[in-house]
Amino acid sequence: MPLVSMRQLLDEAAKGGYGVGAFNVNDMEQIQAIMAAAKETKSPVIVQASRGARKFAEDLYLFKLIQAAAELNPEIPIAMHQDHGNSFETCKSAIELGYTSVMMDGSLKEDGKTPATFEENVTVTKKVVDYAHERGVTVEGEIGVLGGVEDGHGAGGTGLEHLTDPDQAVEFAELTGVDALAIAIGTSHGAYKFTKKPDGSVLKMDVLIAIHKRLPNTHLVMHGSSSVPKDLQDVINQYGGKLKETWGVPVEEIQLGIRNGVRKINVDTDNRLAMTGAIRKVLWESPEKFDPRDYMKPAREAMQKVVAQRMTQFGQAGHAGDYAPIAITEIAKGYANGTLSTQPLVAAR
Ligand SMILES: [Zn+2]
Repeated sequence: MPLVSMRQLLDEAAKGGYGVGAFNVNDMEQIQAIMAAAKETKSPVIVQASRGARKFAEDLYLFKLIQAAAELNPEIPIAMHQDHGNSFETCKSAIELGYTSVMMDGSLKEDGKTPATFEENVTVTKKVVDYAHERGVTVEGEIGVLGGVEDGHGAGGTGLEHLTDPDQAVEFAELTGVDALAIAIGTSHGAYKFTKKPDGSVLKMDVLIAIHKRLPNTHLVMHGSSSVPKDLQDVINQYGGKLKETWGVPVEEIQLGIRNGVRKINVDTDNRLAMTGAIRKVLWESPEKFDPRDYMKPAREAMQKVVAQRMTQFGQAGHAGDYAPIAITEIAKGYANGTLSTQPLVAAR
C-alpha cells in the first residue's frame, strides 16, 4: 500500500470514534516495532519524524525505511508525518520527500523556542496549508504552546503557561484551514511531565472539551501524551538507570480525549523508555554480550509491546481493513473542489 493521507486516516477515525497513535521514529528497529504492532493489532498507523530524527537518520535513510514498511505491509494504511515543522521550508522539504502529512508548528517562531504571535502563526500555517493541500498533503497546526523541550524543540516551562483559548482555536481553524489541530492543555514533551498523578489542576481536559464543543468536527491532536508508566521506569532504574520519579498522561485521560474529538495521539517517550529498559536489562544481566542484535532485538520487542498496547487502548486496533486508501492525487483534487472541507463546523458558545 502506498503511504496514505493522514486526513483520510483521521476522517475514518472520526467515523469510527477512535484515536490513532502517532509514533516517532529515528531508526529501523523503531519502524519495525511499530509495523509489527500494527500488523499484530490490524491497526492503521501514523509514523512521524521530528526535525531531529530527520537529521539523525538522514532524510533518505529514514524515508526509504518508511517506504519499505509500506511495501512490506500492504494491508496497513500508513501516514508519514513531519512532527513539529518549524518553518515553511521544513514542511516543503518533507512534502518533496514524499511525506503525506506535515505539522506546521507556528505556535513557536522558527527557532523552535520563542512563542510566536497569533498573526505570525496564522500566516505561516496558512502558507503551508496552501502548498500542502495543492499536493494532497495533510496539515496539522498548533494553537497554544506545549511545555517542555524535545529534540531541541519547545518553549520549556510547565505547559500551563500558554493554554489554548477555545475562541482563538475557532478563529485559527477558520483562518488556516488546517486538517488537524494540536492544542495545549497542560501536557509537556519528554519524560518529566508531571510531579504527581495529574489532576484537573495540571491536565486541563476541560479546555479540550470546551474546544471540541466549539469545533465538533475538527480533528484534535494531543501532544506529549506518553503515559510514562511506572513499570517502564522501574525496569530502567532496576538495571542501573537513574530516572527521577515522574508521571505522564494517564491512558484513561487520553480515552476521555478520544471521546471528545481527539483523533491523533503523539507517543514517543514510552517507546524510548521501553527500548532503553530492555537494552539495560540485557547488558546488566549479560555484561559479556557485545553483538548489538543481542540487545536491539529485545528492545524492538519491548517497543512493539507498548505500541500494540496503545493501539488497543486508543481504539485503532482492528480498523486497518475498514477502507481503501485514496491516492494522494485524488486527495489533492478533493481539497481543490471542496469535497474535502477545510472550513471547520463551528458551534455557537
Ligand atoms: Zn509534540
